Amino acid sequence: MRCPKCRHENDADAAFCSSCGATLDSSGSLLSLNKTLVLVIIVLSSILAVMRDIIIFQTIIKIKPLKF
Ligand SMILES: [Zn+2]
Repeated sequence: MRCPKCRHENDADAAFCSSCGATLDSSGSLLSLNKTLVLVIIVLSSILAVMRDIIIFQTIIKIKPLKF
């Protein structure tokens, strides 16, 4: 991994630059964190959508007999 500060080439899994000590994996871990966050939001929203559909479906089932 190349250091964004001093362009020194470090190990791919290096956390800090061996030349200037700059943090190397901050953008990478932030990106994976964002990906995880997006995935969690997608999963949660699909769960919420399914729950909403179930609640709407149950409400329709409950309301219909009352109407007739
Ligand atoms: Zn550096």
